[in-house]
Amino acid sequence: MSREKFYITTPIYYPNDIPHIGHAYTTLAADIIARWQTLLGKEVFFLTGTDEHGKKIELAARQKGKSPKAFVDELIPSFVDAWKKLNIRYSRFLRTTEKEHEAVVQSLLNSVRKKGDIYLGTYEGYYCTDCEAYYTEKDAPELKCPIHHKTLEKLQEKSYFFKLSKYQKQLLSYYKKNKLFLSPEFRSNEIINRVSEGLQDLSISRTSFSWGIPIPFDEKHITYVWFDALANYLTGIGYLNDKKKFKKFWPADVHLVGKDISWFHCVIWPAMLFSAGIEPPRQIFSHGWWTFDKEKISKSRGKVINVDELIAIAGVDSARYFLFRETPFGQDGDFSEKELIEKHNNELANKLGNLFSRVTSSAEKNGIKKIENKLIKKLALKEIEKKMEDLEIDKALSTIFSFIDKCNEYIQEKKPWESETTDKDKILYELIDSIKAIAILLWPFIPETSEKIARHLDFEISYENIKKAYQGNTIKKADILFKKI
Ligand SMILES: [Zn+2]
Repeated sequence: MSREKFYITTPIYYPNDIPHIGHAYTTLAADIIARWQTLLGKEVFFLTGTDEHGKKIELAARQKGKSPKAFVDELIPSFVDAWKKLNIRYSRFLRTTEKEHEAVVQSLLNSVRKKGDIYLGTYEGYYCTDCEAYYTEKDAPELKCPIHHKTLEKLQEKSYFFKLSKYQKQLLSYYKKNKLFLSPEFRSNEIINRVSEGLQDLSISRTSFSWGIPIPFDEKHITYVWFDALANYLTGIGYLNDKKKFKKFWPADVHLVGKDISWFHCVIWPAMLFSAGIEPPRQIFSHGWWTFDKEKISKSRGKVINVDELIAIAGVDSARYFLFRETPFGQDGDFSEKELIEKHNNELANKLGNLFSRVTSSAEKNGIKKIENKLIKKLALKEIEKKMEDLEIDKALSTIFSFIDKCNEYIQEKKPWESETTDKDKILYELIDSIKAIAILLWPFIPETSEKIARHLDFEISYENIKKAYQGNTIKKADILFKKI
């Protein structure tokens, strides 16, 4: 029997940036969801990568006296390393400069053109080089980029256009039928309202720079970066090179995106796919931004917490935990080192760490004796599954931690360390068996710690093992899981 599939993606990142908390947040979210789906037994494909074309890269490379390709080649390892340090397990790291991707973009352009959805016109607009996007006077009334706050450049050029306007009705009816597509729900109205007001055709080629994928039917034109970038989700699973894999994994189950790029994913991307005769993805989930002193974190704005700094505060697992425990997934969060340390001390060290060390040291002295685990009935497993299915990552974590609280209350109430307590070994068995379930459920969030617990108690991390009775006989006192800061 073939396993059910699950395909999740992050946006591809602009490489001329130090990987910071903003990139880390999306990629960690994808990693947590991918690990969760793997735990459930699905065959998971997790795609991430870098978006390497465009005027901005061309200019930055020129400033350094390098070719654009040599320039981006030097930048990629910092992303690959950052994901490794954060314990992120992706299936593929895709670079838009790969030949395979170029062929996919050109094939997509040919399909869209064949459908009669591409024409040559003149584009005039207000351009932000940082966004690599045009703004209308309506979007940017002071002719300043709403994100970068810098003056927009007025540009006019011959350009190919994609008939986005043609797909207005189809998009609106798609949104209506597929409620999940625009997630979370509280962000969907904004998109629906804007699409209802009418869509303008989209300029999809440029002649003002050359670092990009040539339009296959007019090589003087370079493909607009968004048309190029979005196609990565097809390339990643072998749209042209591995039809069997593509058939298996497409449509994507979730594209995770920052809310600033949801328009491209929720409107332009499905319209491109409609035109090319490809099914749209099932869900676009737009998450919030991290702020630091309430300002959006980005390199251009000066406030950056890079991945190394994030890890240095309290370790990888504590960083992973903090980012998803503190803020509801989808909402904006404000980063605070102090709160990260508090979560590390009060929850990971005091709740999980203490439970593990008290139970193992008591079990070393008193032994364990297998018995039906009544304590585990307090674990709301169905609720955790539902929260993860709905991508309410913070709520799933809360539910797991409320079971940790129950275990700590149980040990307080039963006091297995006191000499007059009877059935110490049975109480301790229930606790060990419960810790096994906790460690398995926490694996997507804090994999290093989970694996440490699993190695110490000698069990396998698998979903079936949550309900299977713990088989070990002797327990040794464990080292401290989280040192307090
Ligand atoms: Zn901008």
